[in-house]
Amino acid sequence: MSQLEITNLHVAIGEKEIVKDLSLTIRSGEVHAIMGPNGTGKSTLSKAIAGHPDYTITSGDVRLDGKSILDQEADERARAGLFLAFQYPSEIPGVSIANFLRAAQQARMAEGEELDASAYYKRLYSKMDLLKIDRKFTSRSVNDGFSGGEKKRCEILQMAMLEPKFALMDETDSGLDIDALRIVADGVNTMRSPNLGVLMITHYQRLLDYIVPDHVHVMWDGQIVKTGDKSLALELEAKGYDWVKKELAAATG
Ligand code: ADP
Ligand code: MG
Repeated sequence: MSQLEITNLHVAIGEKEIVKDLSLTIRSGEVHAIMGPNGTGKSTLSKAIAGHPDYTITSGDVRLDGKSILDQEADERARAGLFLAFQYPSEIPGVSIANFLRAAQQARMAEGEELDASAYYKRLYSKMDLLKIDRKFTSRSVNDGFSGGEKKRCEILQMAMLEPKFALMDETDSGLDIDALRIVADGVNTMRSPNLGVLMITHYQRLLDYIVPDHVHVMWDGQIVKTGDKSLALELEAKGYDWVKKELAAATG
């Protein structure tokens, strides 16, 4: 059993504090969703965990199985078992998906260790079959001229190959069409297992129709202000975020 623990996290962009004392623990096997209105700090949270240089963690910690990841580079975080959907370059013309994934795999191995090509392709093809991805897909250049759906397919395949302990997915793209949404959902649902923890960040209730979360958190002004099960997402859809705001105002007087 693995555990990703975010404790009392504060994140600033320049002088401005965006994430304010946020705590959240995800265990393997669980799917958590963070929802919240635009500008509330959802992407800031995910970028800070990914180690983006513009996002300063001013206090708090992020621990994977008890060990802080904050002093690790993005590639070390990946090796430790974190998959951060946006850490990959968006377009790499001239580099095929197959070669890109192979290089990523090789990079995770110990120095001097050589990736066995036939075993690699066998694994790649079995993952593609699992995710129902056409073989032709891997000979294309990474994200070069890809549709939104194809970019998502590439991302899900990377995730399947890396077999992370925790996947953090910020579905920030407002252009995510129904096709792309289904690819993400089918991929995550296929990979759902007692060994994988998922944090889905979204403001679309729609995505949660396909990926049914175990826990739903509402983020408001840099904090998690409400936590519930999947029914909370439906309640938010019906009542909107203003309802949470009113509840908060009432609670704080
Ligand atoms: P969400 O993902 O919930 O919509 P964001 O994390 O993108 O929210 O943004 C939270 C706040 O941080 C917003 O006020 C936004 O304007 C600000 N912000 C986000 N990224 C940057 C940046 N790179 N530079 C300056 N301000 C930013
Ligand atoms: Mg966002």
